[in-house]
Amino acid sequence: MKAPAFTQRLAFRIQLILAAFVLAMAVFHIAYWQPQMENRLRRSIQQSVSRNLETIANAAAPQLYNNDITTVQDVTTLFIKQYNSESPIKQDPLTQSRGYSDVGGTKVVHLEVFGRNGDSKFKYGEAQVPLAASDNDLLRVRVDANFDIDYTKIQVGEIEASFDISEAIEKEHAWLLWYEQLQLAFALCLAVATALVLDRNVRQPLTMLADASQSLSQGDYDASLPPAANDEVGILSTGFDKMRKQLRQRLDDLERARQQAESANQAKSQFIANMSHEIRTPMNSILGLSELLAQTSLDSTQKAYVSVFSESAKSLLAIINEILDFSKIEVGKLKLDEAPFDLYEVVGDTLKSLSFSPKSSNLELLYRVTPDIPSHLVGDANRLRQVLFNLVGNAIKFTDEGEVRIDIGIVSVDSESAKLHFQISDTGQGIDAEQLKLIFEPFEQADNSNTRKHGGTGLGLAVSSGILEAAGGRIWVESTVNDGTTFHFEWTFGKTDSACSSEAITEKSKYDRVVVIEPHHIHRELLQETIERWDLPTSGYASFQDAINETSDKDNHSDRTLILMDLGHLSDEDRAGLNEKIKCSLGAEATIIGTLSDPTQENLIQELPEVDHVLIKPLKLSELANAIQGTIEQHEIQPADLHAASLPHAEATFTRDPIVDSEEDHALTVLVADDVASNRILVSHLLKKLGHKVFIAVDGEDAVERWRDKKPDVILMDIQMPNLDGLEATKKIRELESEEGTHVKIIAATAGALIADREKCLQVGMDDYLSKPIRIDDFNRVLSHKPR
Ligand code: ADP
Repeated sequence: MKAPAFTQRLAFRIQLILAAFVLAMAVFHIAYWQPQMENRLRRSIQQSVSRNLETIANAAAPQLYNNDITTVQDVTTLFIKQYNSESPIKQDPLTQSRGYSDVGGTKVVHLEVFGRNGDSKFKYGEAQVPLAASDNDLLRVRVDANFDIDYTKIQVGEIEASFDISEAIEKEHAWLLWYEQLQLAFALCLAVATALVLDRNVRQPLTMLADASQSLSQGDYDASLPPAANDEVGILSTGFDKMRKQLRQRLDDLERARQQAESANQAKSQFIANMSHEIRTPMNSILGLSELLAQTSLDSTQKAYVSVFSESAKSLLAIINEILDFSKIEVGKLKLDEAPFDLYEVVGDTLKSLSFSPKSSNLELLYRVTPDIPSHLVGDANRLRQVLFNLVGNAIKFTDEGEVRIDIGIVSVDSESAKLHFQISDTGQGIDAEQLKLIFEPFEQADNSNTRKHGGTGLGLAVSSGILEAAGGRIWVESTVNDGTTFHFEWTFGKTDSACSSEAITEKSKYDRVVVIEPHHIHRELLQETIERWDLPTSGYASFQDAINETSDKDNHSDRTLILMDLGHLSDEDRAGLNEKIKCSLGAEATIIGTLSDPTQENLIQELPEVDHVLIKPLKLSELANAIQGTIEQHEIQPADLHAASLPHAEATFTRDPIVDSEEDHALTVLVADDVASNRILVSHLLKKLGHKVFIAVDGEDAVERWRDKKPDVILMDIQMPNLDGLEATKKIRELESEEGTHVKIIAATAGALIADREKCLQVGMDDYLSKPIRIDDFNRVLSHKPR
């Protein structure tokens, strides 16, 4: 049990010591000193009365010898009378010294004289005096009466007397009480005086010192101290004051040094920010010029040099951007935007852009978003993308095989905001415990050999943690060497009510079931989970063969089935007669969406006309939703609409017959210019199924080249492309055409739905525009328009 606080105080302890001292004194007086004094008094009275009795015995001795009893009686009676009448006979130096004039009120209460004749003893007389009440108050004394005969002392008798000493004892008690009270009062006064002196000279200065040291710990260097004195407390106080002044001086020096260092650091960061900014401007010119240079006629060596030149400039720009971000964080100038964004899009985009890195082809890139997370949030999507890009990029960089996975869960949600937990885990080399402590420090790389092997500035994590700090979130990491690393971060976003485009499946009733054929079990489960969120029942299989074996007997073939199938893992055997096998076992009404992990397998699907849509992994939720929605809409168009669209051979596609009548005279040659492989695959597949001949171009510059070579009937031109964008490519084609006097129909494929974007397309000479994702009826509609 803890003692109450007041018992710890010095004042209390001093008072306790003094009270104990006074109490000890009282106990000493009562238990020892008082009985001692009483005994001493008794002894003193005894000696005094013995002397008196001896005097009387000497006086009575001749009479006793002569047997003169009458005289003896007279003598003793006179003695008793005189004694009891306060005569000076009782005087005693001890009692006198205490202020008594005699032996303190003793009285003879009984006296007997014994005569001795030879050996016999005679009782001669007895004084008639009353007996005292208690034995304790009586003092019995016996003395011999001796008589000198021929110089020989002979005992002739003895006198025994009892004295009542009660009055003397009472007086002694009274005196002792007075004396004790005096002493206690004195002790009390002494204790109080000591307490006051100690309080003033010790407790108060010590309390002041204690208060001052407490104030010092709170940064107050001016709390008052006890006045200077030469005693120990005074020396302590002076020493404390000296130490306090030195401490203040040191702290002032330190603060000055800190401020200097901080302003130097700020100046350095500002300088780096300015420098990075200044470097970025010419760097952009270098990039732009290298792109222009690449468009001029160069031989293959020159082209290779320009490409290296341009790639180096791009990576330099990325490093400079990272340094710029870091210096912004250091000077506290990093500001976050607040705008609505689609979480699924941001995560999907990030994974997609990283999936093109060469290392990622050996890895499974997965992501899972907990279903109850609101997909539309408000916050800085670009900074979120940057953090994800850093963490997922590192995970890919430091993982040779296995998987890299993003899991997004919810920590808390209310009507206005949602706190999300992001987890980026890999199965890579891991980071050891020592290095883990420094991982978020700028310029720290877990292992310097990383720099040589993987490159990097060591700023990615510092920038990510700075972004999270600015967003009010937090980041942490767990890792086991050779087992993998998991980075976690939490970020609170605002919520918005806007509709969720990534879950835009409106006609769910079109399909009775979705068969997911995907070898990787996590991929498969995630796909099934996502699709089931749209109320479409799913069944999952690891391979096409499994799907056929397990469904052929028991399932109803008249079901309208959507098959989501990984094309990369189809064996040659599966590929042959795919359509027939599907019809027999998975249902005549099956629609196929194919998925590919590797965009370079683009050619594979040329062999599979049965496939309605192709998506490149990792799948974005919106892509999947759009693809499913696209297949629904595609199948709902009536043959009558197709005739109105005046497109040859379209009917065959829409009646679900995958074998397209491709008579050359009705077919158009279409050049699809898009930098995103999955878009190219999707559109070219669609056009091929409509019976058209398709060429592809991977950017604007390629589009101009291809136009020159192939002279297509129609160009479906994406707007945002590297090297030369769609607008510039169109301008160039139109310039070249004006010399030749030709006109190709150019249709813009725009992601932006703004009227201004479309106006821009028409201004540079495009004939029409389509919004992405491209739908068949829209495509047919714009083709039916006469070129302007
Ligand atoms: P860098 O530009 O060097 O990648 P970062 O700040 O992003 O800088 O990372 C710092 C260091 O942390 C890396 O050099 C690497 O050693 C280590 N690291 C980061 N992520 C991982 C991971 N997923 N697995 C293993 N090591 C990692």
